[in-house]
Amino acid sequence: MSTPETSPIVVIGAGPVGLAAAAHLHERGLPFLVLEAGHTAGAAVRQWGHVRLFSPWRYNIDPAARRLLDDAGWIIPAEDTLPTGTQLATDYLQPLAELPQLKPHLRYGARVTAISRLGMDRLRTAGREHTPFLIRLTDGEDLLARAVIDASGTWGTPNVLGACGLPARGEKDLGAHLDHALPDVLDTDRDRFADQHTLVVGAGHSAANTLLALTELATTAPDTKVTWAIRSASPTRTYGGGDADALPARGALGTRLREHVDAGRIRLLTGFSVHALHPAHGKIAVLVRHVDGGEESIVVDRVVAATGFRPDHSITTELRLDLDPILGATRALAPLIDPNEHSCGTVPPHGVDELAHPEIGYYAVGMKSYGRAPTFLMATGYEQVRSVVAALAGDWEAARDVQLDLPATGVCSSNPTGTTDSCCEPTPVEATGGCCG
Ligand SMILES: Cc1cc2nc3c(=O)[nH]c(=O)nc-3n(C[C@H](O)[C@H](O)[C@H](O)COP(=O)(O)OP(=O)(O)OC[C@H]3O[C@@H](n4cnc5c(N)ncnc54)[C@H](O)[C@@H]3O)c2cc1C
Repeated sequence: MSTPETSPIVVIGAGPVGLAAAAHLHERGLPFLVLEAGHTAGAAVRQWGHVRLFSPWRYNIDPAARRLLDDAGWIIPAEDTLPTGTQLATDYLQPLAELPQLKPHLRYGARVTAISRLGMDRLRTAGREHTPFLIRLTDGEDLLARAVIDASGTWGTPNVLGACGLPARGEKDLGAHLDHALPDVLDTDRDRFADQHTLVVGAGHSAANTLLALTELATTAPDTKVTWAIRSASPTRTYGGGDADALPARGALGTRLREHVDAGRIRLLTGFSVHALHPAHGKIAVLVRHVDGGEESIVVDRVVAATGFRPDHSITTELRLDLDPILGATRALAPLIDPNEHSCGTVPPHGVDELAHPEIGYYAVGMKSYGRAPTFLMATGYEQVRSVVAALAGDWEAARDVQLDLPATGVCSSNPTGTTDSCCEPTPVEATGGCCG
């Protein structure tokens, strides 16, 4: 029978953080297997491939991955330039996944549907931590693992439009009229948006990106109309830190957005949330409700729900997880990443101790580790997996020596009124588009 010692460490997801984990596992000489639902490395990143990141290359490359790539003669992209999602995938993630040290340990088209312990449900305690994890794939295949590093991200589970966290009335029937975050408005999805009226809901970076793309589209498709609805009373946080943002690309995004709103190219509805949606002669009538109780019905052709993402905990229901009731991160991590207090750039270094669950050997890392907090940066995830892998190798000194060099954002510090701005998103109760999404 398999024991934890003879089974590999399974990494779920070949995104930036899952592949970084693989690089660290290789360096530590630990047997590993990466299971990726998609058919390429960075499958989720490629879905927002048309979006330019706001953190430059030097923050986007994991140190262990870099060492492996350097040895293979890889030419690092100019460190201060900003890649698109596609460039991140094709110029970094794919070459990394193709390295002979990693490639044989990667399986594509392998979606994990559930994780448990071999022969044990969540109730059984005796011998639990010495029993291998059982990992079930979509096709029913079961695999065993000594430990699980869950880097499956949150891209596959977007938030709903409804303000209370439940779908707005009629949302589920919206079908082809609804897009989730970051449609490729200027290219692949252009036909759906050109000369149409689109309502963008959400106050985060995703919403800003889509709004700017729509205004650009309007220069060549002049009947394109744009309405933007946010729940907060002011878009100030979405506009961000302007020149004060240490990630200038993000500051510039907010500044451009403000200009379009001021010029009337985007109609902004503040203090509104989506209550219901109804078909209206080939269009959608969206009933938005103001915080004061007033309602307005807006008839649009399309709705973009740039309302952020949440982790999919359904695959871990047979594990003993201790999740913060608000964010869905571990309880130790939650206060460190609370978007009311922290931005992407002010999250303290953290690692294995903050990521541990009562289920010994299971770690959610990367975007998923932050639960619903929208403040995740790749550099944070790289330090997480360095620490977790060091601990799995028994090197606790290295595991606990956590360090992080993140760009300060300038948009995230407490302001004189006592309210706080998060780097990329307003507050956890605002519909979010993901820190960086
Ligand atoms: C538009 C956008 C812009 C961003 N810009 C920045 C930026 O500038 N700087 C920055 O630091 N961060 C940025 N981020 C945030 C974050 O760093 C990225 O989302 C990053 O891709 C997260 O990496 P990850 O590996 O944790 O998750 P992902 O990149 O989402 O990778 C998860 C992988 O797991 C796979 N998967 C999912 N479920 C399963 C399953 N059940 N079984 C098997 N495989 C599965 C997916 O297919 C995917 O390949 C941005 C995010 C978005 C959305």
